[in-house]
Amino acid sequence: MPLIAVARCRKLHDYEESVRRAGGEPWVLDLAADRPADVVARAAGVLLTGGADIEPSLYGEAPHPSFSAAEPGRDAYEIELVRRALEADLPVLAICRGVQVLNVARGGTLIQDIPSQVPSALTHKREGADEPVTLAHEVWLDKGSLLMKLMSDSLSDPESCQVNSRHHQAIKATGEGLVTVATAPDGIIEAVEDPARRFCLGVQWHPENFYRTGEFRALFEGFMKAATR
Ligand code: MN
Repeated sequence: MPLIAVARCRKLHDYEESVRRAGGEPWVLDLAADRPADVVARAAGVLLTGGADIEPSLYGEAPHPSFSAAEPGRDAYEIELVRRALEADLPVLAICRGVQVLNVARGGTLIQDIPSQVPSALTHKREGADEPVTLAHEVWLDKGSLLMKLMSDSLSDPESCQVNSRHHQAIKATGEGLVTVATAPDGIIEAVEDPARRFCLGVQWHPENFYRTGEFRALFEGFMKAATR
């Protein structure tokens, strides 16, 4: 059973359950005790989870008024972790804040606040987090992507998918080696991958919230398959 390093966050349950149901063993990291180098040596895959905003100086910007910092130390820890994981070609699945960490770790930038900086955008932050599986908007998947390959059996139209959405930030410029593989109809980037890696996929929505009904189980299963090899 592949050991999957899970970045600690406030709502761990659904991530852990998604890993378990796909056949993996979650290992929730302790930022103070589990050094990234040791994590990469031991784990079979890395799951980057949701959370608050990445410090904007890490991608060369001053903070927008909406900036809400993540737990102390989390930015630097997760950036080092994902860099080391990719150097070692460990499978990486990055969710919400995670895809933003992945992007910043590769030199990319972020839209700091979609509602004020992209006024024409759809609603990407649904309030009422007690309804995590409420579908918020469509995403268009790119042909030939790992994401579409994984999702194709679960979708009637393989190029379109409905997702939940709880983010006020998004990728602006993609980092080195990352390719956009899904966008919302308003142009907001919803998923990226690094095609040069064994498995490196990041999504802006929260597939882990659907562990009961399995709409996105294929993402976790593909991740686990890559981690098992
Ligand atoms: Mn969205």
